[in-house]
Amino acid sequence: MSVREYTCVVCPNGCPLRVDVEERDGCPVVVSVLGNVCKRGEKWARQEVENPLRTIASSVPVAGGDFPMASVRTNRPIPLVKIRAVMDEIRDIRLSAPVNTGDVILHNPAGTDTDVIATRTVRAARAG
Ligand code: SF4
Repeated sequence: MSVREYTCVVCPNGCPLRVDVEERDGCPVVVSVLGNVCKRGEKWARQEVENPLRTIASSVPVAGGDFPMASVRTNRPIPLVKIRAVMDEIRDIRLSAPVNTGDVILHNPAGTDTDVIATRTVRAARAG
């Protein structure tokens, strides 16, 4: 059994959490959570220990646009263990202008059941 300390990020209270963790079959499993004022803190701690999720933000090159890059992000958090695989797929993307905010530029990367969407509009560059 090991003890991990976290600050809950679900609301501005930022409760300090003490989480007892056991290894079972090589995977961390939460045994108990202390310090949370509400149930959401316990749920967050279990998720953070047993299957941490993160939203990825990155940028991809855009050809023929009024800006050379478009910022992108996953439209929902994905498992931390999949981040490298998703980043590898994002790195291979080359877009052509126009790109609009909200465009899906990659569907289901690394089997994560998420979309990577553009978060910046890049208009086609004017000729001449
Ligand atoms: S445990 Fe509850 S009250 Fe405390 S920071 Fe988390 S969500 Fe907010």
